[in-house]
This record gives sequence, C-alpha cells and structure tokens, in this order.
Amino acid sequence: MPQGAQHTQKRLKSHLGRPAVISYGALFNTWLRMSDTTRNSDTTRNEQTPPLVWTNALMFALTLGAAAILVPWYGLTRGFSPAAWAAFVLFAGANGMAITAGYHRLWAHRTYEAHWSLRLLYLVFGTMALQNSVFAWCSGHRAHHLHVDDVDRDPYSARRGFWFSHIGWMLRHYPSGRPDFCNIPDLRRDPMLAFQHRYYVPLALATNIGLPLIVGILFHDLWGMFILAGVLRLVWSHHVTFFINSLAHMWGSRPYTEDNSARDNPVLAVITYGEGYHNFHHIFAHDYRNGVRWWQWDPTKWLIAGLQLFGLTRRLKRTPVFQIQRALLAMQFTRARERLAKTPNAGHSHIEQLRARLAHEYESFLAAVADWARVKEQWLGEKKRAVLEQWDQVDLQSKLREIERRLSLQLRRMRMLQAQLA
Ligand SMILES: [Zn+2]
Ligand SMILES: [Zn+2]
Repeated sequence: MPQGAQHTQKRLKSHLGRPAVISYGALFNTWLRMSDTTRNSDTTRNEQTPPLVWTNALMFALTLGAAAILVPWYGLTRGFSPAAWAAFVLFAGANGMAITAGYHRLWAHRTYEAHWSLRLLYLVFGTMALQNSVFAWCSGHRAHHLHVDDVDRDPYSARRGFWFSHIGWMLRHYPSGRPDFCNIPDLRRDPMLAFQHRYYVPLALATNIGLPLIVGILFHDLWGMFILAGVLRLVWSHHVTFFINSLAHMWGSRPYTEDNSARDNPVLAVITYGEGYHNFHHIFAHDYRNGVRWWQWDPTKWLIAGLQLFGLTRRLKRTPVFQIQRALLAMQFTRARERLAKTPNAGHSHIEQLRARLAHEYESFLAAVADWARVKEQWLGEKKRAVLEQWDQVDLQSKLREIERRLSLQLRRMRMLQAQLA
C-alpha cells in the first residue's frame, strides 16, 4: 500500500474509531487511492502523493453515496412526484447549459457576447452546478487548452488516465492544478465574476439548498425535491460535465486533428449538451459551436444562436468553412498515406493507381489552398476600400465560395478513396 494511502487509513481509523465506520473509511480510502495515478506518470513518479483536498473529496463522496442510497430507498418506499422529476430535469438542464454556454463558451473561450441578464442567469445556475467559480474554472480550462495532454501542465491531462482526468485531479493538491489567474485578466475585470469568486461558498450553499427548498415548499414535497432536484441533480450534472475531460479525450473519432487526444463522439454529445464534439472544439476553440454541422446534436449552440433573435447574445464567432475543410482534408491525406504505406508494394496495379490518385488529389488540394490564400489576401486588401466606397465584393466572395465547393467535392472523393484503401 502506498505511503499516503496508509497514512490516510490510519488517520481515518484513529479518528473514527468504531469497526463499522472503519469499513466506510476503507471504502472512501480505496476511492481516493484511485486518483493517485501520478505514481504511474513518467515525469512525476518520484514525487510524493500530494495532500488531499478534503472538502472536495468529502463533497464528491458524500453526494455520490447519498444519491446511491437515498434515491432507490425513497423511490421504493415513498415514490417521487412528477414535480420532483420535472425539477430534476429543469435544474440539471439549467446547470449543464450554464456550464457549457456560460462558463465554457462565453467566459473561457469568448466565442460570443451576452447581455448582462443572461450572464446573471449563467452565474446563478453555474454556481449551483458546484464546479468552482468562473475564475477558477476558466483559468484551469485555458491551461487545459494551452497545454493539452501535458502531464505536468494540463490540469486534467487524459494521459494520466480516466480516473485522474474525470475527478481525481480535484481530489489532491496536484502541482498541475495550482490556480494561476494570470491567464484570465479579461475575466478579472468583470465585477459580476469578481463578486461570484469572492462569495463563492455562501452562494454555492444558497443555490444548492435554497432553490430545491423553494420548489419543495411550492409543491409540498420537501424530501422528494431535496433528493432528486438537490442531491441526484448535483451528482448527475457533475459527472456528465466531467465526462468532457475524461471520455471525450478517450472515446471517439479524430476527424480534424491528431495533435491531441480530444475526440468527437455523438453519444457523449447527447449527455453533455453538445460538448461531445471535442476534437472539433480543441482545434477551433474560438467557435461558439462544437457540433459544427447543422444536424450534429449541440443544444448549447442552438441556445446561443436562438438567444441572438432576442438580442441576448451577439457577435457569435464561426470558423470559416474553408479552414474546417482544410483540416478535414489534411487528416484524410495523412490517413490515406498511412494506409498506403502499410500496403505491400510489389507493383500491384490497383495500388499503384490509388497512389497516383492520391498524389493527384494532394496536388489539387495544395492548389486550392494557395488559391484561397491569394483570393483572401486580395479580399482583405479591398475590404477597406469597399466599406469606404460602399461597393460589394461579390466577385471575390463568390471566388472564395467556389474554392470551398472544390474542397467539399474533394472531401467526397477522398472518402471514396479511403473506402477503397480500407
Ligand atoms: Zn479537452
Ligand atoms: Zn474548451
């Protein structure tokens, strides 16, 4: 048993004393030990296990334990009212969206601007989600994007294993998770965010206890509301958000880039309000969408775009279609080359044909990229004059769209070529 775990167990035994309680202590201890994955990391294996963050460890363990016991017990003995289930769904949705649309896409990445009333709502329900203040959350998340997968600098590096990236990183004072607000100067200037950070603990307690209490009184169902809209809602919204740091870096495809571990996964997108398209997000983090295609399940992007109609959001940032296609095609070429390299050479005429087609496709890809860069430069140069002289640059814009059409046809051809190589 590692030194730190022994120490923790001894402390638990001496503190709690009674055998019946020790078994709970041992269970809790085992749970904590699962996060000690730094022992296996190449760079940190010689470090001692960092000290526990007791408040986090107890909060996660107690809420999970309470949900696992209280929900089935109360459900089987008393039964939950439809109002309690409705409050669970509404609060869980509001917490999730406040984190994805507010904490993540508004504050961490600045992908759009929001009216103060919307920001206030994000703050109320984001605080209720109990994932720390916007300052702490966004500072950690910006470090995650900047140093993604780095075991020493990414606070929830997926290279340290599922458990660490899911929850373990919050259970101990790891050096990689040390707060450094130097990367959030823009947020620190916002008085609403400074207020939330300063009074985070009382605000978190007030929202988590107060809101379920209010609906409990309104619907004459205090216990049902406390268990579903309070405890189960908190555990659910914690873990679905945590999946974005863990599973979304392990399970799924990488259509845009293999430079990092982030994955696109439509199943995860369904439970994470659209955040499952994480491969796209890591390469184009300034885009307010994660599921960039219109049919991809991303309720967060629909919320942000929908609220624009009411003037609550504005200046939504979108990645140009060309850049998205270029990333997709670059990955297609890399994969096709890898597959061809694995195929035995031996002058097989079919393989030779495919090789020649690939070379030809790559040439036309490079030509399209060069054309786009040239037209774009021309377009930017003339943009200023066009604004001043009030004329349209329809001609240059249609040239850019034509290049995008060329790339989208090429994407289709490359998918067929990949199918032949498979
Ligand atoms: Zn990520
Ligand atoms: Zn992000």
